[in-house]
Amino acid sequence: MIEFRDVTKRYGALVANDHVSFTVERGEMLTLLGPSGCGKTTALRCLTGYSRPDEGRIFIDGRDVTELPTYKRNLGMVFQNFALFPHMTAFGNVEFPLKVRSVPSEERRQRVEAALRMVRLDQLATRFPRQMSGGQQQRVGLARALAYEPSVLLLDEPLSNLDAKLREEMRFEIKELQARFGITAVYVTHDQSEALALSDRVAVMNAGVVEQIGTPEEIYGEPRSPFVADFIGLSNFLSGRLLDSGDELARVEVGDRTVLARPNPDLSVGDDVLVFVRPNDIALTRRDATDGTLAAGADVNEFGGHVEHVVYLGDRMDYRVRLDSGDVVRVQSEARHEEGTEIRARFRGDQARVMPPRR
Ligand code: ADP
Ligand code: MG
Repeated sequence: MIEFRDVTKRYGALVANDHVSFTVERGEMLTLLGPSGCGKTTALRCLTGYSRPDEGRIFIDGRDVTELPTYKRNLGMVFQNFALFPHMTAFGNVEFPLKVRSVPSEERRQRVEAALRMVRLDQLATRFPRQMSGGQQQRVGLARALAYEPSVLLLDEPLSNLDAKLREEMRFEIKELQARFGITAVYVTHDQSEALALSDRVAVMNAGVVEQIGTPEEIYGEPRSPFVADFIGLSNFLSGRLLDSGDELARVEVGDRTVLARPNPDLSVGDDVLVFVRPNDIALTRRDATDGTLAAGADVNEFGGHVEHVVYLGDRMDYRVRLDSGDVVRVQSEARHEEGTEIRARFRGDQARVMPPRR
């Protein structure tokens, strides 16, 4: 439904989008995720036609739209700041773009009512923006974008002006609406939990470049770079040198230890690498205990260390552990250990990954 093919957009010397390529299938929700300034809005602006790429092509529904003006692209937009007209009711706001397009009045009424029903605001059609909560205003924005049945819906940080609880509720509503009506959507956010919750696939962006595209499970579970791993969740990295990439597990020299981790086909023996492991994939047992939740075995990495700091998170504990090597790792687990406890930290080789160093 949408294809970005090697799209580059420069502002003077700054490369805001650097050979950005992705596709969005019909009915799919793709999220552009990345920190502020990484080029998400720039990509959306190229898609809407507000900006023209310096290089590359953009296709919507098989048609090259790179040179096509915005109003011929049939896109629905939802913005971060709602952008409602204060002097118009909810109905008036949703109706406005249809009026501009000279849709006949009876058809207009039907489409506005249908759109307001979709976002469950049909009871509030006569309210003005100032008489509605932030979440209701944002739903009006969504209804307005849906009312003229765009071929593609674009959402640029649409929830960032809402408080935390409402943001979570709206997440589910947007996802439900998008899935139920099979809407093709591009969603922009800097919030990784929003991206994981909403998206069919996520494109993680860093400094104008798409670092990785995949399902939320792939992005979280199989990050290909330290940037992606870090951005999408808590991460530990141990620096080392690749000794060999076995069939199942690679061996990495970390200090005076050999660590097992899942291999990375892009890296060669002798390379400086990182071993990546999530804090909840590390198990802690007392150093003097003979049993453990995770038995040491051929495929398990084990380090001695002590608990340097511990924070109570309610359903689990958050540990800062100083390994005997001097490295510090974050560990999250239900097990209780006090500060100063001498421990063994263990993680399975297949739960760790070999990664390239930061670029
Ligand atoms: P994001 O939406 O991910 O926060 P943007 O796409 O808005 O990022 O911006 C990407 C980069 O391009 C930033 O460094 C930003 O300052 C720069 N930029 C965006 N728009 C313009 C512009 N009109 N003129 C100059 N620089 C811009
Ligand atoms: Mg932006």
